Amino acid sequence: MTKQTQWETEVIAELELLEKVSQKRAIVTTKEINSPFVIRDGQKLLNLASNNYLGLSNDIRLKNAAFMAIDKYGVGSGASRLMTGNHPLYDKVESRLIQWKRAEAALVLNSGYTANVGIISALMKRDDIVFSDKLNHASIIDGIVLSRAKLQRYRHRDIYHLEALLMKAPKDKRKLIVTDTVFSMDGDIADLEGIVRLKEKYNAMLMVDEAHASGVYGKGGQGYSYHVNLQDKVDIQMGTFSKAFGTYGAYVVAKKWIIDYLINCMRGLIYTTALPPSVLATIERAIEIVEEENEKRIILQQHAQHFRNMLINYGFDTCKSESQIVPIIIGENSKTLSFAKRLQEEGIAAIAVRPPTVPDNKARVRFAITATHQKKQLDWALEKIIQVGKELEVI
Ligand SMILES: *Cc1c(COP(=O)(O)O)cnc(C)c1O
Repeated sequence: MTKQTQWETEVIAELELLEKVSQKRAIVTTKEINSPFVIRDGQKLLNLASNNYLGLSNDIRLKNAAFMAIDKYGVGSGASRLMTGNHPLYDKVESRLIQWKRAEAALVLNSGYTANVGIISALMKRDDIVFSDKLNHASIIDGIVLSRAKLQRYRHRDIYHLEALLMKAPKDKRKLIVTDTVFSMDGDIADLEGIVRLKEKYNAMLMVDEAHASGVYGKGGQGYSYHVNLQDKVDIQMGTFSKAFGTYGAYVVAKKWIIDYLINCMRGLIYTTALPPSVLATIERAIEIVEEENEKRIILQQHAQHFRNMLINYGFDTCKSESQIVPIIIGENSKTLSFAKRLQEEGIAAIAVRPPTVPDNKARVRFAITATHQKKQLDWALEKIIQVGKELEVI
């Protein structure tokens, strides 16, 4: 046996510490069999842990779009978009995006993570100021850190705090306010109207992350900004194709000068290989389906509302959830893990979310409802959740 280096010893100690406070993570293999079911550890589970909100990841129309594109174009794109990787399908998808969003310009990007990191770090510089909701997605924080701009975090959904910070900022600095619209761990929604008012008052730009709202909100699934008819007040709308769209990739829509600048300065666009043509083909088809199938969004909201109301009636703390993401706050890490484990034994896949993803003592089990769930499946799950809740003295 080779001797452990100091480095290795330290890292192992760190991992052991995580284990001790029930924060150690492991990757568990889960296979989707047919939304909303998955197989994990050989067991069939009702999936209450997927962001595949409209059940599109297994949709035959998207599968066929991918098959056809692979047959015609192969599996890889070969280069970055600025080299030779800009397949004609990019033009088709981006034209469609512009139409769908009624926007001036659009870009398809490789993932939501690279989109946030790349957009913010390209647009913001040292000396600029970014105002960011405390519960924004990690990729937003990483983008701000990489940009070297000054980070001003405001309390979650607290526009009074945001205004206090804006008021203190020097008038001549460039200011960007960034917020998720639907928050991924709490399922609550930003006060976009309030933020827009402040953005105008303090001459800031506004960027929204619609990862969990794209496909879910708005008459054609264009996102929460459209749902509240504020899309024209938002300078940069970012969203993903990896959740409700059932495929992969991300987008940004904005004024042409912003998109032109990103093409020239966004490293996460310039220095990465373009998406495979098959993925672009599925995105193109998914936008079409998402735009048309409004009834799925209605079913999704009805399901979510029923599920949430039942949990609240039984005494669970569902935070301020208003969306298809419904958490129940447990508090302690170990109890949260036990809760998720007991649910798995009962046939339900749900995620235990612990710090640092959420604040200390706010560990929770996070449920995600989809349009492919049937009401009777949700009622069956609710019964189990209530049973486990009593068993573990959460309610
Ligand atoms: C999932 C998510 C992302 C990252 O998107 P990917 O396509 O999975 O990389 C970014 N922002 C938010 C709010 C998300 O929930």
